[in-house]
Amino acid sequence: MSTIPFLNFDPMHKMIRDEIMRSFADVYDANWFIMGKKLEAFEKEYAAFNDTKFAIGVSNGLDALHLALKALNVTKGDEVIVPSNTYIATALAASYVGATPVFVEPNARTYNMDPANIEAAITSRTKVIMPVHLYGQACEMDAIMAIAKKHNLFVVEDNAQAHGATFNGKITGSFGHANGTSFYPGKNLGALGDGGALTTNDADIAKKIMMLRNYGSEKKYHNESIGFNMRLDEVQAAFLSVKLKHLNEWTKQRKVIAHQYNDALKNVGDLILPEVHKDATHVYHLYVIKTKNRDKLQKHLSDNGIGTLIHYPIPPHLQKAYASLKKKKGDYPIAEELAENCLSLPIWPGMTQEHVKTVADAIKKAF
Ligand SMILES: *Cc1c(COP(=O)(O)O)cnc(C)c1O
Repeated sequence: MSTIPFLNFDPMHKMIRDEIMRSFADVYDANWFIMGKKLEAFEKEYAAFNDTKFAIGVSNGLDALHLALKALNVTKGDEVIVPSNTYIATALAASYVGATPVFVEPNARTYNMDPANIEAAITSRTKVIMPVHLYGQACEMDAIMAIAKKHNLFVVEDNAQAHGATFNGKITGSFGHANGTSFYPGKNLGALGDGGALTTNDADIAKKIMMLRNYGSEKKYHNESIGFNMRLDEVQAAFLSVKLKHLNEWTKQRKVIAHQYNDALKNVGDLILPEVHKDATHVYHLYVIKTKNRDKLQKHLSDNGIGTLIHYPIPPHLQKAYASLKKKKGDYPIAEELAENCLSLPIWPGMTQEHVKTVADAIKKAF
């Protein structure tokens, strides 16, 4: 029986092994591990890739979102609009600064924050709209930015899943006032450990974030604010520089795989395949299908050696962590339906046409 894991780093990592080992040797021999040349170089490269004036490397994606809100002075009593269907990190960032996450339902077809639902959620306490480019598809950023402008709100993009996606030709992570991304190993651009970054075009915000991530200090032992230790270390920065050079090629491969799935799974059972907004591009961090028979299908695939995951089985408003918000089942039906019916299929650079066919054939057999 063939075994197709949900995610397999092997093809990517075999290809860059020598480059990675050399980059590690660079750091090892330089004997400089925190806030050095590798970080500076990666920040320049990532800012260029992301078409922003500044990129600031930090410890992880959650810390990036937290720092973004902190730098925008979001605080206790404020409200942050987040999607009802996201990884909990988005909402946690709001909670960390003492703000309340306010959920809005996604578009039922793209699963991304629906601009049509945002205005109803805005109150006198709203400070920020935080769209998530879920699964790798860019949100409708033109409409979201227009609403933010009209109501004088900040936008913080959660770009953890969408490195390189675009809306109307503009790259995600370059729309908002301060945006966060993650380099968790499984993300499209992944470190070999934890990592993250903020992107912004605002020099004042960038400076604030650079201080906040490093004990609130610009000059060593001169602390101007109650900062954090949320730095990206030299080893991870060096690895990320190597991987960034290959990202566009790996994204292309993800798109090819997604199109193969689209062709092979058309009109199979009650399957609903990913739908991309006409002005958006999708970098397929995840290839997510929907079916009323999700649990049965997942078990069938598992029995056939095919790994799948669910992103995500419990929406934030139904998590114990957010019991204090007093939300109940039925409050966000689109997010809840997605949680019940979605299934993420294997997709990784190096996955072959044969692999895709094996997965698709197993799915067809299940229906
Ligand atoms: C991964 C992820 C994060 C958090 O990133 P970490 O690096 O794991 O802290 C935040 N938001 C979304 C949508 C993510 O997928």
